[in-house]
Amino acid sequence: AEQPRLALNDGKTMPQLGFGLWQVPADQTARVVREGVAAGYRLIDGAAIYGNEIGLGEGLRDMEVPRDQVFVTTKVWNDRQGRAETRAAVQESLRRIATERVDLMLIHWPCPAQGLFVETWKELIALREEGIVTSIGVSNFRVADLERIIGETGVVPVLNQIELHPRLQQAELRAFHAAHGIVTQSWTPLGQGRSFGAAPVLAAAERTGRTAAQVILRWHVQLGCSVIPRSTRAAGLAENAAVFDFALTDAEMAAIATLEAGERTGPDPAVFS
Ligand code: NAD
Repeated sequence: AEQPRLALNDGKTMPQLGFGLWQVPADQTARVVREGVAAGYRLIDGAAIYGNEIGLGEGLRDMEVPRDQVFVTTKVWNDRQGRAETRAAVQESLRRIATERVDLMLIHWPCPAQGLFVETWKELIALREEGIVTSIGVSNFRVADLERIIGETGVVPVLNQIELHPRLQQAELRAFHAAHGIVTQSWTPLGQGRSFGAAPVLAAAERTGRTAAQVILRWHVQLGCSVIPRSTRAAGLAENAAVFDFALTDAEMAAIATLEAGERTGPDPAVFS
């Protein structure tokens, strides 16, 4: 089945649903990529720090669909910020994936204490102008970080990949993104399962005959977010992809909205470096 696509502010489009490669063992990554593509995914979320870009590239060469039908993201890690380091890091990622270019390159964290994310963003702009990366975006950026790079360069990232799940709904960032044409992409979309037993999730699961995970992924889809759950099992990959043949009601969306708890599972971007 055709996956829905989201428009990017640089004229490109991307699939709304993908799967992530964090903590996928390097020696299983090629298999997971192949199985994910076979299960219908057309977006793969990688990163240099995940240590599995070589396996990602192997999977892209082994998969059953043409390379240009799969949208590949990778990221510049925190210790490679600054202009020369960023250029080298991007080239190293391309070499490991063994691809001419990637569809989307992100700055993994703003690392405000380093004071280098504006320089890093300028280098991604240059790499895009040279055609080495197709689209450019960020991850874990706060509103102030986004305002800073937009103010200093005039270039708006196509996407901000942030921690987002029912217990951390990121209303302020989502509103900023909507106002600036930035796609919100949800990482740890299942929130480590902490909302699987919540009453609004269970009620929607019962009504629709879906699993709690599918209800939560569908909630992200209906918020308009791109979503990148992770599963290394073929059955889990298939379950998480089956979220386009049912819908939550407005009342169910509103009930899940009440689960906001301001609760991160990962680091705070204000201090992480
Ligand atoms: P996730 O929310 O996708 O959850 C993964 C966990 O949930 C795994 O333990 C998995 O076995 C389990 N799971 C998956 N599908 C399930 C299902 N249908 N039912 C029950 N359990 C299920 O979390 P994640 O891996 O933390 O995040 C997804 C992706 O986001 C990562 O792989 C990575 O690509 C990206 N990410 C990015 C950042 C960042 O800083 N940019 C940080 C964390 C994750």
